[in-house]
Amino acid sequence: MTFRALTAKAFRSPTVLVFSSIVAISVLLIQALLFVPALVTQHRHAVQTMHASELTRLTEIFLSTDKNAFEVSVPLLGKKLVGLIVSDDDGQLLLDTGETQQYEPNNTALEASSSKKSLRMELPTSTGSVTVLGFFDLSEQWLTSKSLIVFLVLVSLSVSVVAGVCSAWATMRYFISPVETLSLALRESRESSEGRSPETIDVDANLDLKLIAEEFNALIEEQRKSSRQVKVKQQYLEFAAHHDPLTHLPNRLMFENALNTTVEDAISRDVQFAVFLVDLDNFKFFNDQYGHLVGDKMVAEVGNRLRTMMRDVDVVARLDGDEFVVIQKDVQDPSSAEEVAKRIMSVATSPYEYRGFTLKAAVSVGISNFPNDVHISQDEKMLGEEIVNNAAVALQEAKSNGKNQYQLFTEKMRSRLTARIRLEQDLKLALQDEQFEVFYQPKINIHTRQCTGAEALVRWRHPVNGFVSPEAFVPVAEETGIIIELGEWILQTACNRTYELQQKGYADLNVAVNISAVQFTDGNLLPMVARALEDSKLKPGSLELEITESAVMHDPEEVISSLHELSKFGMRLAIDDFGTGYSSLAYLKRFPVNTLKIDRAFITDISSDNDDVAIVEAVLGLGKHFNMKVVAEGVEDEEQLNFLKSQGCDIAQGYFISKPLNSEQYLAWLERWPYGVQTSDSHTESLPSDDDVYKTGT
Ligand code: C2E
Ligand code: CA
Ligand code: CA
Repeated sequence: MTFRALTAKAFRSPTVLVFSSIVAISVLLIQALLFVPALVTQHRHAVQTMHASELTRLTEIFLSTDKNAFEVSVPLLGKKLVGLIVSDDDGQLLLDTGETQQYEPNNTALEASSSKKSLRMELPTSTGSVTVLGFFDLSEQWLTSKSLIVFLVLVSLSVSVVAGVCSAWATMRYFISPVETLSLALRESRESSEGRSPETIDVDANLDLKLIAEEFNALIEEQRKSSRQVKVKQQYLEFAAHHDPLTHLPNRLMFENALNTTVEDAISRDVQFAVFLVDLDNFKFFNDQYGHLVGDKMVAEVGNRLRTMMRDVDVVARLDGDEFVVIQKDVQDPSSAEEVAKRIMSVATSPYEYRGFTLKAAVSVGISNFPNDVHISQDEKMLGEEIVNNAAVALQEAKSNGKNQYQLFTEKMRSRLTARIRLEQDLKLALQDEQFEVFYQPKINIHTRQCTGAEALVRWRHPVNGFVSPEAFVPVAEETGIIIELGEWILQTACNRTYELQQKGYADLNVAVNISAVQFTDGNLLPMVARALEDSKLKPGSLELEITESAVMHDPEEVISSLHELSKFGMRLAIDDFGTGYSSLAYLKRFPVNTLKIDRAFITDISSDNDDVAIVEAVLGLGKHFNMKVVAEGVEDEEQLNFLKSQGCDIAQGYFISKPLNSEQYLAWLERWPYGVQTSDSHTESLPSDDDVYKTGT
């Protein structure tokens, strides 16, 4: 370090400034104390010497001189004695020469003159003695101390130099160098810390420094402690950001990272792996039934079992509420994934006890294999996404195939799903774009041949694909919830049209509208029906609601109360597709139902299949017993109609009578139908022959 840098550093310190000021002042004081008395003493000594020599000279002169001869004054005065007053014993002035003008006998001011000094002396003369008042010029006297001054200046200079050196050394030794050492230690500690809190420093040579170092070390300790706490908090936050709080399994974020790593690893080592999406079946129902707490326990238990079942190298994560994902690494043979799927299903579904409940989960599993199921040529980053999507497609397949099963991904599944997604999107648009139309399929009283009304059947004319069967889109509309809005529109349209026809003279015409299970459990069915009736002015008695047997049997107790509400409102209720579900006859008794519709599957083979005959007979018997009307649907020929007639069936619907017709065609059909519309007081007389009639139906 240069001297300049050192001093610059040193003088930044107030301590050094104060310290050096004190040293400088002390040096000055010491010098003053030595210098002034020495000078004064020296001066006094010189004056005395001078006085003594002048005295001797004057004495010599006076002794050899007559008293009156003092006039000879000139030799009396010298360089130093500049004035002289001589008086005799009687006080008579004998001589006044030189610079004595300022003299006044009692003037002490004369004494105060710095450069001139007077001296009164009694001097012997040859004749006696005289009083002499001598005036001396002392100004030169000071100059006699010149050598002393030089000496003193030299001394003072050397003292200053020594003091300066000493204080510089002290500053260096006790201030600058400790501070340098300390700041070096601090810098090193900071540099070696690499972002962590700095290392404690070790300087034990210097006591002052040690105090500072200890202080610093204490600060570091404190900082370390708080940074340890921060680290623990960070670790917790890190864990929370990557794990699911319920199961403590990795969450979606962490799974995605793990998946990407797995893909990279599989590509670089040329190995296979499998992804399983595991979804609890009917979890919402389970939650509703047992409560969310039990639902959570179930999820946690399934997660735990999956984690225990898989190896440590495999990944088990929770993606969503009841959805887990498993990565089985290093799969040797794709078919081994099936074995794992079976094990997953068996561990997840084995029962467990919770607070007295025996709980049993059902799961569906979708599986996709890497690299078999992906387009390996694409961007590596997309591969992870693709494999999970594939597993999701397989899971979807498992769900729509009835759940509680596993499915391995196939390309066919994907195209089905794509078509299905497109259908969903198109369905949403169709309602806005008015692509739907309601058709009407007439029903007749088998005995009187009179038309009793029609079943409203929805039709979708897709702008590109043309006619789409309700069997294809109604289930999708149900799953997506579109059926709620669509169903309301169908009901409203059917009610409006039927009321119009009633106004055209078919006063007792009825309409049957299909109500999906989704609409039934939605909770808004009654207000919706009431609104449709009010808006259309149709009487409740002219409306029949058809509910499929499977919808009714899904939750019979719930359905019974809803059916009672609807029935009280005055409308008629029919169980559709009767015979295909698993109706409990015990419930049938409690349903306020007016009509049973025998599914067309039993009618089709009625002339050849004895079992179907037995079923139809049984349904007719039930109808009679519970005082319900029985409608046979799908009647396609006369033979079937005659058989039904012979068995006492009330009402028939089918292509033999008429295909579903649009609203204009329906009116035209009604106008052509020779037996007219059944009224409450209709009777069977004077009916046209069958031959005239049925050919109008097609
Ligand atoms: P569904 O309620 O059993 O309706 C009767 C189905 O049988 C209709 O098919 C009808 O066209 C057809 N059908 C009638 N007579 C015959 C026949 O003699 N032979 C044959 N082979 N078939 C006949 P569609 O219109 O294709 O409807 C199929 C299903 O879609 C309906 O079965 C019903 O479950 C549902 N669906 C139709 N329209 C609606 C609706 O407006 N709302 C709801 N929720 N579902 C509807
Ligand atoms: Ca129906
Ligand atoms: Ca049916």
